[in-house]
Amino acid sequence: MSELVLVINAGSSSIKFSLFETSAADPIVLFKGQMEGLYVEPKFSAKDAADNKVANETLPSDAPKNHDYALRYMLNWLESRIEGRSIAVIGHRVVHGGTTYSKPELVTPEVIAGLEALIPLAPLHEPHNITPIRVLEELLPNVPQVTCFDTAFHTTQPELNQLFALPYEFSQKEGIRRYGFHGLSYEYIASVLPEIDTRAAEGRTVVAHLGNGSSMAALLGGRCQLTTMGFTALDGLPMGTRCGRIDAGVVLHLMNHLKMDAKQIETLLYKESGLLGLSGFSSDMRDLENSDSPRAKLAVEYFASSVVREAASLAAAIGGMDALVFTAGIGENDANTRKAVCHQLRWLGVELDEAANAVRSSEPRRISLADSKIAVYVIPTNEELMIARQALACIA
Ligand code: AMP
Repeated sequence: MSELVLVINAGSSSIKFSLFETSAADPIVLFKGQMEGLYVEPKFSAKDAADNKVANETLPSDAPKNHDYALRYMLNWLESRIEGRSIAVIGHRVVHGGTTYSKPELVTPEVIAGLEALIPLAPLHEPHNITPIRVLEELLPNVPQVTCFDTAFHTTQPELNQLFALPYEFSQKEGIRRYGFHGLSYEYIASVLPEIDTRAAEGRTVVAHLGNGSSMAALLGGRCQLTTMGFTALDGLPMGTRCGRIDAGVVLHLMNHLKMDAKQIETLLYKESGLLGLSGFSSDMRDLENSDSPRAKLAVEYFASSVVREAASLAAAIGGMDALVFTAGIGENDANTRKAVCHQLRWLGVELDEAANAVRSSEPRRISLADSKIAVYVIPTNEELMIARQALACIA
């Protein structure tokens, strides 16, 4: 009987899981689901491989609302479904690997200490990635666990592209440098590119991961050379509620002139800006596109024009562009954003095939005309599969 791989992606208010089986060459998903609303009103939901809802439960009001209980609940549910089959390995998405981790790591006490040392670099995320590792170590002591880092893919960036023009000691001693995120998504795209377009796989490809969180990366031969996110996941493109690239002087002005404190500025930049801040009513691209409000239109245009500027800047960093790939919620589903971006990149050699762009599909597909100098693709990302593959490879 084939072995199972459990993938965990834990955040501050939710824990997502995917369970894969490994009988085929590539892991195949059996169930995926999540516990949402932690610390408020936890709700558990799950779907099977055919996308049928197989669980939708609100936890009893007297049940603990924390990560620990959520994991126990989730594991109980999974064990009732897997009919005596065992979990061979657990893969965890970990937001920050710092300069310490450039590949997946088998969890040991040293690795946990290493992750704890990285908490100052990602105080809002790293602790929530560590908690499930500890809880699952207690619940499944014989199952190996592997950490898969969102930053690892970007460690191939040349040093020049990892620096800020602060005094050099800040990067060396304080770790204040451009790490980049969404690495598991880019790594997945890089892994499937050879089957789709060898020129893109071996050459200069710009990948646009456009979702609630958005970033872009320039790949040369499938290796990252530059990415738009930096020290935190705030830099680069505007996002659902995050501001993206901003003049650091604005932060000083907010402090010195508007007398905002660090917590207020954090809330403003992470939760009240981006598409939500510009439109004034929603962080969801679908809402904005269905609205007649001039500010919604402004937000949509700001987003597309930011993607265009970053695409051109990334292309400059790798000496041109052979292919452009759209992925994640907006990149995969929003034909309007893709069209706006591609039209503004015509001067660079992008010729969109409008009919192909309008087709709705969950398969990888080309959306540029045959004679477009730059090939444009939509490729659905699969970060969970990437984690499952990495976890299996790590214990092989
Ligand atoms: P993600 O974080 O990758 O799940 O992406 C979430 C974003 O994708 C949200 O802004 C959604 O509005 C957007 N999205 C999902 N489906 C569509 C769609 N059909 N058209 C436009 N945007 C979409």
